[in-house]
Amino acid sequence: MAMVEWEGIESVFLDMDGTLLDLHFDNHFWLAHVPVRYAERHGLPLEAAQAELKVRYARVAGTMQWYCVDYWSEQLELDIAALKAELRHLIAVHPHVHEFLAFLRRAGKRIVLVTNAHAKSLSLKMACTGLTPHFDALICAHAFGVPKEHPAFWERLQVAEPFVPERTLLIDDSLPVLRSARHYGIAHLRAVRRPDSRQPPNAQEEFAALADFREVLPPPTAPRVACLDHCVLTVADIEASIAFYGRVLGLEVRRLEGGRTTLCVGRQRINLHPFGREYEPKAGRPTPGAADLCFLTQTPVTAWFDHLAACRVEVIEGPVERNGAAGRLLSVYFRDPDGNLIEVANLLAEHP
Ligand SMILES: [Mg+2]
Repeated sequence: MAMVEWEGIESVFLDMDGTLLDLHFDNHFWLAHVPVRYAERHGLPLEAAQAELKVRYARVAGTMQWYCVDYWSEQLELDIAALKAELRHLIAVHPHVHEFLAFLRRAGKRIVLVTNAHAKSLSLKMACTGLTPHFDALICAHAFGVPKEHPAFWERLQVAEPFVPERTLLIDDSLPVLRSARHYGIAHLRAVRRPDSRQPPNAQEEFAALADFREVLPPPTAPRVACLDHCVLTVADIEASIAFYGRVLGLEVRRLEGGRTTLCVGRQRINLHPFGREYEPKAGRPTPGAADLCFLTQTPVTAWFDHLAACRVEVIEGPVERNGAAGRLLSVYFRDPDGNLIEVANLLAEHP
């Protein structure tokens, strides 16, 4: 499985060519573009140039020279950096890499690009893809004098970019590099199923491999609401409701644009809709008198009895103990002009 247990990861080392970027650029460059230019430069038939280059490539595969733009410029008498720039339109980021890098940033991981590519190749590719800001550091093996395939690379990386091998993830499309990292002790290793989008996938089973960066993203968490913002009361007479909630409950009444009215309850609101002329969209069955609301108050419930009597509001029950959202309540009940049940309560004790 390519999935990663992210809680156990602090550092994420990411290879560039074939991992974050499509290896098609590099394969096309070395196997098609360079042979053509080499044949032109040296007056060779294309087939002869291809055969000669194949031998030269094999001779230095896996060494620092293989990755060195200056080495090849000198060996082949070609301006390799300039030839690469000619093909810049083929430089492409693998799908969902941006999403993956953004996740790593949000998750607070240390994100390091670790590449054997020469600094000139690195700068061309970063300029074309705009990936640089995603990384905390860009590490070029040329700075260490050994490629990632070499055990000494990881020791030198440890000095330049300290990491805990058991809490580090490396994603790389090269099996020799993954083996070298495993030998050093890097605990979390992932290969890349299809480094070159124009070639068939790799069939190796030595390392868990990802076909798509979404495979290593944690599953999205289900959306959830944070708190109540407002609710709506459908009322028979807006002015009667305003008078009741303002005078009896002491709520601030606000008149809004378009003739709408709202009652302020702490940070929440109760919007009033006139029955029969409700604002769209509206509830399925807007009905006056169908609500049952409870308000907390700092004023002792006993003092509410005198106030309600002065307002000519009949108490229908209370004081009684009830179980509220926040804790144990002492409540008194009455009704508003539409017959909605109104409960006013003191919080006696919060829920443990
Ligand atoms: Mg690679």
